[in-house]
Amino acid sequence: MQSRDSCACFFDRGLRFECQQCGRCCTGEPGTVYVAPDEVKAIADSLGLPEEAFIADLLYPFRDGYSIKEDKQGNCLLYAGGCRIYPVRPRQCRTWPFWFKNLRSRYAWKQTASQCPGIGKGPVYTRDEILACMREHGSGLKT
Ligand code: SF4
Repeated sequence: MQSRDSCACFFDRGLRFECQQCGRCCTGEPGTVYVAPDEVKAIADSLGLPEEAFIADLLYPFRDGYSIKEDKQGNCLLYAGGCRIYPVRPRQCRTWPFWFKNLRSRYAWKQTASQCPGIGKGPVYTRDEILACMREHGSGLKT
């Protein structure tokens, strides 16, 4: 049987993506944004906060790490007209939209694109880069 890495995929020629910072994926409904323990320091540093204060004010325990708190409307507390931690955002956000569930078919990708205006814009991610994101996101799910 062929592995996912060797099969012909609809994204063999790559896919365009560039986040438009619209907030649609991180506001408006409750969700979890997993932050691994080894991701905490870089995010805290980028906000100019001591790690303890960052954890107490903006995170809650989730699995072996944390998730980012939201307001009552389900808005990520680190979204303010744009992601406040974009360069150091956690794996879950960094690998979006190249998740297996979005790439399992062309149809799934089109459905995802209808929710995310960044899809189809910006630089092309190569097939290998897409597969690397998919693997990295998957490895995070197992933690
Ligand atoms: S929905 Fe897409 S374009 Fe909008 S913030 Fe999320 S990733 Fe960026």
